Amino acid sequence: MAMTMLAGIVGLIHPLSEAAAKNLNVMASTEDLAALAREVGGQHAQVDSIARGYQDPHYVEAKPSFLLKLQKADLLIVVGLELEIGWLPPLITQSRNARIQPGANGYLDASSVAEILEKPSGPVTRAMGDVHPLGNPHYWLDPENGRRIAKAIADKLAEMDPEDAAYFSQRYQDFDRRLQEADTRWLQDMAPLKGIEVITYHNSWPSFTEHFGLRVGGFVEPKPGIPPTPAHTLEVINQIKKDQIKLILVEPYFDLKTPNAIAQQTGAKVLVMMPSVGGAPEIKDYLQLFDYNIRLLKAAFSGQK
Ligand SMILES: [Zn+2]
Repeated sequence: MAMTMLAGIVGLIHPLSEAAAKNLNVMASTEDLAALAREVGGQHAQVDSIARGYQDPHYVEAKPSFLLKLQKADLLIVVGLELEIGWLPPLITQSRNARIQPGANGYLDASSVAEILEKPSGPVTRAMGDVHPLGNPHYWLDPENGRRIAKAIADKLAEMDPEDAAYFSQRYQDFDRRLQEADTRWLQDMAPLKGIEVITYHNSWPSFTEHFGLRVGGFVEPKPGIPPTPAHTLEVINQIKKDQIKLILVEPYFDLKTPNAIAQQTGAKVLVMMPSVGGAPEIKDYLQLFDYNIRLLKAAFSGQK
């Protein structure tokens, strides 16, 4: 007993195995990227995020506390494609943290490794306030992109902390295996919904719908970032009637007034889907994000039949 205690005390004074271990300070712009960083970083990365999962990631109110978080970060992971353009760039500049400035070693733009849909073919414009000028920035909603992002983070962590490279690689492989198992299950669950057409409020879901075989017939917003107009709402109503669309997917941070009005006119059902980890208290990690939304879709669809 006394020996065990003594060994414990000695262990505290000389934590031999942990003596050389680093603990990288990782900051992510969103909870989704933070969740992926936690999967691969394990106990060798202290991970935090700025935007909360129930917030619209295009519009996040900058707080002084964000600046403090950025000042101590070794690595900053961003979604990119101008998703955070309205709030993150000034914070990065003001942090005066050279490690995480764009182009620095501690700046990781996850869009550089993901498959991006709706990339503009012509010159880039922000016509009518379109907030997706460089392609669709909601790409983390395809599990395949989640895998790619996790791999990129594991590689970056290994580069910054080479002594723990094998640890990060093993964590990534474990995540990859669990993700593949879960994806097989999700695809089975979604099989009965294959090919069905949905309306979504914002254009948040193309990566998700492509992976799981749904079709997006239109949007409640006339353009990404532009609030509904009466004329456009009428078009959506007509289209739902014509195509017999049954579901309207709405992100949690939008007003339900217009979707509910459309539902009332058409008989379609409004479903509040979570685009991010942390959107609901039970969505604590990346796999739970898909578990949640697929459960919701399955229930709504079986309720329709
Ligand atoms: Zn968007």
